[in-house]
Amino acid sequence: MRTVRDATSLHKAAGVTIDDEQASKHAHELFATRVPQAFLDRVAPGDLNDPLLMQVLPQAQELVKDARSSQDPVGDRDAIKIDGVLHKYQGRVLLVTTGACAIHCRYCFRRHFPYSDSHIGGQRLQAAMNYIKDDSNIEEVILSGGDPLSLSNAQLENITQQLCSIGHLKRLRIHTRVPVVLPDRVDDGLVDWLNRIPLPTSMVIHANHANEIDQQVTSTLHRLYETGTLLFNQSVLLKGINDSVDSLSALSQRLFECRVIPYYLHLLDQVEGAMHFNVDDHTARTLITELRQTLPGYLVPKLVRENPGQKSKTPI
Ligand SMILES: *Cc1c(COP(=O)(O)O)cnc(C)c1O
Ligand code: SF4
Repeated sequence: MRTVRDATSLHKAAGVTIDDEQASKHAHELFATRVPQAFLDRVAPGDLNDPLLMQVLPQAQELVKDARSSQDPVGDRDAIKIDGVLHKYQGRVLLVTTGACAIHCRYCFRRHFPYSDSHIGGQRLQAAMNYIKDDSNIEEVILSGGDPLSLSNAQLENITQQLCSIGHLKRLRIHTRVPVVLPDRVDDGLVDWLNRIPLPTSMVIHANHANEIDQQVTSTLHRLYETGTLLFNQSVLLKGINDSVDSLSALSQRLFECRVIPYYLHLLDQVEGAMHFNVDDHTARTLITELRQTLPGYLVPKLVRENPGQKSKTPI
């Protein structure tokens, strides 16, 4: 399937005209455009304020400097134990399985992350496995990235087979945006792979707006659910995209229809080039309070921020 990989093609495909075409191209040079057709199909043509288009369109605002932002807002560089292993929290390690993602989200906190030299490709896999084997306090491994479902089924199988032979691991987790943005990737082989994982497994998907979940995504999530994988969702609170009670409530309800429980609603990681998406703490708290008065408790995500050096995400 087609993937749009530059600003001008995206403008055409979405039927929008940009005032500052040059700035949009410059933003693309800093962080490449990448939008799978399946995601683009859910964008309303001609609408610059479309909540899906806004997540992927390179914009002039990305070039604005903001003193509050940095290139590594969550302290990932300090948490790298060995290449591809982020160990910040007790009992859990995050494996950067690949630098590749199916989509490039403009707000991504990893837009400046040195992926190319810190993932567990090739020779580094063995070192990562040894790190996990040597620390019996690690109970859960999170396959992350990039997006782990950018790997082939055979590569995934290889990683989880090795992990499942480590006696002290109790849980596996997969952090992925692929079921939402590239549902075709969830093929028979991937479903077989999930069915065969002997450890209790959860998958945390990433959708920010109800419009992201169309019929094809719904049936993909049903297939995943049938493997017995527990499904959760994390979102980022994004100005102009999902910063209203109606939008957040619609998202939670859509997720539940797909058997997915809302897990985290993240405040924006203050990364350079994404500050125009920032929602302040006060507004965020008010939204969550109102959401709690609207929905059953299990459909209200936990509002959190990631602070460098903390032992967990910080509840707001
Ligand atoms: C967010 C995160 C986790 C997972 O945290 P949970 O609260 O268990 O969801 C684990 N490791 C790292 C490095 C993280 O950033
Ligand atoms: S899918 Fe996740 S890691 Fe990849 S660009 Fe989007 S937010 Fe970043």
